[in-house]
Amino acid sequence: MSLSIHNGGMLCAVYHGPGRLDIEERPIPECPPDGLLAKVMACGICGSDVRNIFTGLKDGITDQIIGHEIAGSVVEAAPGLRFKKGDAIALAPDINCGECYYCKRGWVNLCSRHRMLGAHFPGGFAQYIAIPGEVLTRGFIEPIPPGMPWEHAAFAETAAAVLTCQKRIGLNLGDRVLVMGDGPVGCLHAEAARARGASLVMMAGLDRLALAASFGVDLLLDNRDPGTVRRRVMDATGGVGADAVICAAPIARVQEQAVELTRKRGVVVLYGGVPKDAPMTSLNSNIIHYNELSIVGAFSYPATGLSDALEAIAAGHIKPERYINMTLPLAKVWDGIEAARTGKALKVMLDPWAKE
Ligand SMILES: [Zn+2]
Ligand SMILES: [Zn+2]
Repeated sequence: MSLSIHNGGMLCAVYHGPGRLDIEERPIPECPPDGLLAKVMACGICGSDVRNIFTGLKDGITDQIIGHEIAGSVVEAAPGLRFKKGDAIALAPDINCGECYYCKRGWVNLCSRHRMLGAHFPGGFAQYIAIPGEVLTRGFIEPIPPGMPWEHAAFAETAAAVLTCQKRIGLNLGDRVLVMGDGPVGCLHAEAARARGASLVMMAGLDRLALAASFGVDLLLDNRDPGTVRRRVMDATGGVGADAVICAAPIARVQEQAVELTRKRGVVVLYGGVPKDAPMTSLNSNIIHYNELSIVGAFSYPATGLSDALEAIAAGHIKPERYINMTLPLAKVWDGIEAARTGKALKVMLDPWAKE
């Protein structure tokens, strides 16, 4: 397929139902009368993309351009907006309604009518993206700090939810943290915990521990042997367990394990979702009761999440170059999905303008 734009066409990756993601040429979208048209300069492949491609998009949506970790350059803007032609922008996918019970309380990530770029609106696996006014006002779009590479700005979306989660549980100086999961999100939790002043950062994982080694983790634990994980976590924490255990692996068993590795009055965070068809988990309720544990869910982030993440990257607290170990042209999206799925790559970026 030709990669040049001709006759107003653009290249994009369109989801057509479970297991079907096709590279297509579609017309370049018009700039919405109240919004923006942007050239997509980088779009990350998210763990949720990899999952959803096989299990379905939210609300059963099909025939949609997916991808939601987006950095782009504004090529056209309706008059009077806060962005103009030439601006570099980072986009987060969540769009809230601003009117429901949760939005009225400011909990916009929990909006009852939550919609997403890459599902309800066309996403970033494309050379261009149209951003309607309601996405500008009810979604999260931020200017990219000067000099930040496109891929780093696109990575901010992944970091945003992690930083928000740690802020919410009040992770602090001297805390001893155990991250369950050695994917990019687990590594982000480790890096962010370190930046917040954790005195001990431990990680239990399976296939990607070698990749995770460079993230300032004090103790890397192979979770094929849960008995040894438990012994080493207890040894490292004077026999009490971690102050916070963050489950960033889509596995219910890991959540069950987490309550046994947390100190009394500690917090267990259920960060990653588990497969939609097997969401049940069985936590030892006596441990939760007698040890006064807090079990906390964490999902997405408020309006400040994306700007916090861009600032953390600009300040060097989060280093996207440690995560992004594969950049592919759009036409190779399936290679990227495969690399992300099998753990060969920590973070895959698509460059819609790269030549094959
Ligand atoms: Zn994502
Ligand atoms: Zn709402």
